[in-house]
Amino acid sequence: MSVYDLTGRKALVTGGARGLGAGMAEALARAGAAVVVGDIREDTGKATADALQRSGATAAFVPLDVTDEASWESAVTATIGELGGLDILVNNAGIEISSLVADLDPADVRRMLEVNVLGVALGLKHAFRAMRPGGPAGAGGAVVNISSVAATFPFPGIAGYAATKSAVDRLTRVAALESGKLGYGVRVNCVYPGLVPTEMGARLAEDMATLGLWPSAEAAVGDVIGLTPLGRLGEVSDMADAVVFLASDAARFITGAGLPVDGGMGM
Ligand code: NAD
Repeated sequence: MSVYDLTGRKALVTGGARGLGAGMAEALARAGAAVVVGDIREDTGKATADALQRSGATAAFVPLDVTDEASWESAVTATIGELGGLDILVNNAGIEISSLVADLDPADVRRMLEVNVLGVALGLKHAFRAMRPGGPAGAGGAVVNISSVAATFPFPGIAGYAATKSAVDRLTRVAALESGKLGYGVRVNCVYPGLVPTEMGARLAEDMATLGLWPSAEAAVGDVIGLTPLGRLGEVSDMADAVVFLASDAARFITGAGLPVDGGMGM
């Protein structure tokens, strides 16, 4: 049972096939929302949506590449067609490519900018167009962007990624301001997750050893835990529950906020 009630709400979660996004889709569904999983991974995304359906939720998969404008147009149209509206967008899709600053590869930085910054910007654009008065969904709603503790706390080996996640923070503020000023009725917030051992999180820890920054992935993880007042890594459900809160009416007077969900690491 969820603390917050999203009965009747319609949600799209980008990068919802696996990892944090799949957990967010599951938590939104548990709170009563109908959920569309959008991802470039079709097989995994369909399996995630099927599992949600088997648990009794209204759920579907739509193909979505967040870097592609036409893909956003068709995914938002398909979501509204499938669910009958759109009230919640979680801009979760993201990639991380580790490197020392001295070894940065322009192609890797461009790819992270495309997915993590352009992807969120296009998500905001198409959410606003769909949700604002007169749009095909038209009932306002909430956007939750997934930034990172990397935007609030410096960590070696992830300069390009940290820059893109700081950009997500700024996109959140400007979008929240425009939505408020222009009467769109859409709240926009972001969360800064701490390290969670998803495929991305576990690989990031391995990269710290590969880059020579820590003797092993375990040592890097141990130092993250040591820097975390609550004394453990994050879990998928920790992030998912925070997203449900920000998407719900419990957060009705919260917009333009960034919520650390990192056990205190970034304070
Ligand atoms: P993950 O790699 O396990 O999952 C990411 C998902 O995004 C995958 O399903 C992938 O297919 C999808 N995706 C990638 N590029 C896409 C694109 N162009 N269009 C649509 N979907 C795309 O990663 P995760 O750990 O679940 O991370 C989810 C989000 O949380 C990311 O934005 C990440 O930066 C952020 N985050 C993760 C951690 C962590 O420790 N895991 C910490 C802070 C922030």
